[in-house]
Amino acid sequence: MIPTAITPFKQKLSSPLSKNQITVLQINLGKRCNLACKHCHVEAGPKRTEELSPEICQQLIEIIQRFPQIQIVDLTGGAPEMNYGFKPLVETARATGKQVIVRSNLTIYFEDGFSDLPEYFAKHKIRVIASLPCYLLDNVDQMRGAGVYDDSMKALQLLNQLGYGKESDLSVDLVYNPQLPKDNQFSLTPNQTKLERDYKQYLQEHFGIVFNNLYTITNLPVGRTKLYLERKKLYTPYLQFLESHFNTGTVEHLMCRDEISIDYLGYVYDCDFNQMMNVPAKNHDGENLTVAKLLEAGCLDLIDEVQTAAYCYGCTAGGGSSCGGALV
Ligand code: SF4
Ligand code: SF4
Repeated sequence: MIPTAITPFKQKLSSPLSKNQITVLQINLGKRCNLACKHCHVEAGPKRTEELSPEICQQLIEIIQRFPQIQIVDLTGGAPEMNYGFKPLVETARATGKQVIVRSNLTIYFEDGFSDLPEYFAKHKIRVIASLPCYLLDNVDQMRGAGVYDDSMKALQLLNQLGYGKESDLSVDLVYNPQLPKDNQFSLTPNQTKLERDYKQYLQEHFGIVFNNLYTITNLPVGRTKLYLERKKLYTPYLQFLESHFNTGTVEHLMCRDEISIDYLGYVYDCDFNQMMNVPAKNHDGENLTVAKLLEAGCLDLIDEVQTAAYCYGCTAGGGSSCGGALV
């Protein structure tokens, strides 16, 4: 049954959401992007100017070099490739044996000055995770802008030519986001395994494209999605819907337990959603953290408890949701 009021997320948990040892460093390099997608939780776009400064970039390079416990450096934005710090961060992470993920919108390769990116990705064995909210043209262009679907297909073909999706050390994964709801007939993300089969079949048959994994990600009521839902008076009903599908089994797998998320100013968050909603991570003494403080302390594991909010119901509904898709 759908509840009438939202239960504070904390009350839903049997114990506080604790942090494991940090193994994932996610860096949001800024809000600049060549696209301005309707569902963007970062509210990124071509007119945004906020981005990583050289000073913070240098501190992040030091973090990557000093902490062998970091296994994955996950670069996101905006379009992270547009920031000058992108390549130095990639090269530092690879030189220290870490896996690098780039959250790429694919279309950036066709903007002036970025055509070298596919070769660069392949050279440094960067794992590409790319948003493709549907395998059909209309749905993608409606959500992300005219021409995005065609450019995405061309980009995936380019990546395939370089060995992506074919060679074991060149992975390209796609991300499915549901369309934004038009009324209160909400639904959870479809079954990831079945949808991956459908995507693979369609893209292979129509474009000869291959890829590794499909990740289904729930639209969290954050950023542009939140604004959209509020405009449609669907914000609270959507949260109620998500809460009514709360699945305790997802909690131990939440991505916020293993990662820290850094913004372009060097502030630390438990995840990218908290970053966008300005909910900073806290140390044992309840103080906000920065990259400079982590360096000073010589320790990444200063957070006892993940900061949560009502939108956390988006990560814990049904099969769960994370930057790596369904959780259970
Ligand atoms: S969803 Fe990705 S590609 Fe679209 S505007 Fe946001 S950051 Fe850019
Ligand atoms: S939004 Fe999701 S990842 Fe972020 S703190 Fe909440 S449950 Fe964790």
